[in-house]
Amino acid sequence: MSKTPSEHEGEDRARLILALREQGVTDLKVLGAIEKTPRELFTPDLFKDRSWEDSALPIACGQTISQPYIVGLMSQALTLDRRSRVLEIGTGSGYQAAILSRLSRLVYTVERYRTLMKDAEDRFRKLELTNIITKFGDGGEGWAEQAPFDRIMVTAAAPEEPTRLLAQLKPDGVLVAPVGKGPVQQLIRYAGDGAGGFLKETLCDVRFVPLLDGVAREL
Ligand code: SAH
Repeated sequence: MSKTPSEHEGEDRARLILALREQGVTDLKVLGAIEKTPRELFTPDLFKDRSWEDSALPIACGQTISQPYIVGLMSQALTLDRRSRVLEIGTGSGYQAAILSRLSRLVYTVERYRTLMKDAEDRFRKLELTNIITKFGDGGEGWAEQAPFDRIMVTAAAPEEPTRLLAQLKPDGVLVAPVGKGPVQQLIRYAGDGAGGFLKETLCDVRFVPLLDGVAREL
């Protein structure tokens, strides 16, 4: 008997979770959050059937929804718990924020395209993710009124060390960001040493769209 579309999707989901585990995303809470977040809600119509593939996909405004493996890796590297207040820079589709919302207390997310922000807000409402607070603005500046944060995740490539964002982190906080100017950047984890310094660890090479200055003039 042939399988229904939802059976197919169930298999795709299971296959993705297994692939992430094999690649080193072993945190069960992170895997659980990915498994129960319908990625097809965050992908454009043209790519719906690829929603559970382990690949980045194009979204509106020339941006991308990250590859699930990278979402898993970055979420795991943040070492979140239910008390964490997290700042995300680059809401995009809202997928990463949705994952973070299931792993932390409050998620603050900033996006420089109004359209992306609005669409992401609709998705959060639909999924009843009430612990995500959105802002249209330049994420490079962080969110001073809400700082300091326990955790910060940057999902666009910072050309240099993100010092302004590091300044909005608690002394024992963790920040994960792609850093570099070229098409390939390094994913860096900064862990506060509690005394104003940071332990820096390079996780892997990644390809993110750049963190741009200011808000977008177009919608
Ligand atoms: N986290 C997203 C993927 C991010 S793609 C997701 O899960 O879908 C990177 C996003 O960062 C894009 O939407 C881009 O518009 C945004 N961005 C780039 N520079 C920014 C800035 N200075 N402030 C806020 N958002 C920015």
